[in-house]
Amino acid sequence: MATKRDYYEVLGVARNATETDIKKAYRRLAMKYHPDKNPGDTTAEEKFKEAAEAYAVLSDAEQRARYDRFGHAGVGAAAAGGFGGGFAGFQNFEDILGDLFGFGFGGGAGGRRTSQVQRGADLRYDLELTLEEAAKGVTTQIRVPRLETCDDCGGSGAAPGTAPETCPACGGLGQVRYQQGFFSVTRTCPQCRGVGRTIKDPCRTCRGEGRVRREKKIELKVPAGVDDGMRLRVGGEGESGLGGGPPGDLQVVIHIREHEIFERQDNNLLCQVSIDIAEAALGADIEVPLLEGQTSLKIPEGTQTGTTFRLRGKGITSLSGEVGDLFVVINVVTPTNLTREQRRLLEEFAALSPRGERRNSVRKSEERGFFDRVKDAIFGS
Ligand SMILES: [Zn+2]
Ligand SMILES: [Zn+2]
Repeated sequence: MATKRDYYEVLGVARNATETDIKKAYRRLAMKYHPDKNPGDTTAEEKFKEAAEAYAVLSDAEQRARYDRFGHAGVGAAAAGGFGGGFAGFQNFEDILGDLFGFGFGGGAGGRRTSQVQRGADLRYDLELTLEEAAKGVTTQIRVPRLETCDDCGGSGAAPGTAPETCPACGGLGQVRYQQGFFSVTRTCPQCRGVGRTIKDPCRTCRGEGRVRREKKIELKVPAGVDDGMRLRVGGEGESGLGGGPPGDLQVVIHIREHEIFERQDNNLLCQVSIDIAEAALGADIEVPLLEGQTSLKIPEGTQTGTTFRLRGKGITSLSGEVGDLFVVINVVTPTNLTREQRRLLEEFAALSPRGERRNSVRKSEERGFFDRVKDAIFGS
């Protein structure tokens, strides 16, 4: 074997060159000597391999340290193993050009690795809450069906005692190269479908998938003040990754059930309270409901249907601590099924009341419920 050139000399960098310098130098040489650009030129191919080997060692801090101390002898085995076929050299080339072009070489370094190590998928869980739970916050157990790493094979997908083998079609890269004019194009390997490995004897538990479907119980803390449609992210509780990749996240989407009494608009609450004509005419202290308990409200004399009272701070406290109000819309109920005595008193009342103040015209819009109209006025439609 001919004497090897010094790796720093091969790349044309100083001994104290930074990682970036080394990468730049290699990129320049790789572009220049890549076999695709120099078909049939064996000198170029040799130079290309030499640069790839030098880069493989000098770009790895541990290898570089060994090389600095022991020279070629310190890294001989690794270098020989890594570049025997020259193919791994091409892989490096693509890694680095992927950075440069951002496309064209199977998406570059990141693109190829995702075929073997993959982050788990995010999962969505729809959680229905009562308005009270949303307002106060709640800790609840949810059951999330998801794919988890198979215990029996440790996620490899191979039967216990065996291991997946490198895909012979793509040499474990998950991708195969096709020549297309000047550059070559990389495609997902059809044999292993991009995984880079094939399994001869699949794990029976997961049928070679490496993951199994399981239901995970998760204790979920819902903070006070959440609103309909909000998402809570629970990091790492999605599906397990592939090939040792990190798990995805769990996205919990909040849905708030319709409340019997209250309507919610942002942090404000709206409810309707009925009073009788005597309370409306004479005024009264009445009880109005709150999300928790009740409070008293003074109705002044002469209150009309649709009159709205705003109780500050009795709405919902948002996640950010803003406090909403409660709007109480009054509905004056006309009595029905009068007793004889009630009828007599009302007739007496009518005889004392001035005539001619009645409204004769009824507008079309009044066919809509007054409640809707009030809501529009307060919240805007
Ligand atoms: Zn398994
Ligand atoms: Zn393959």
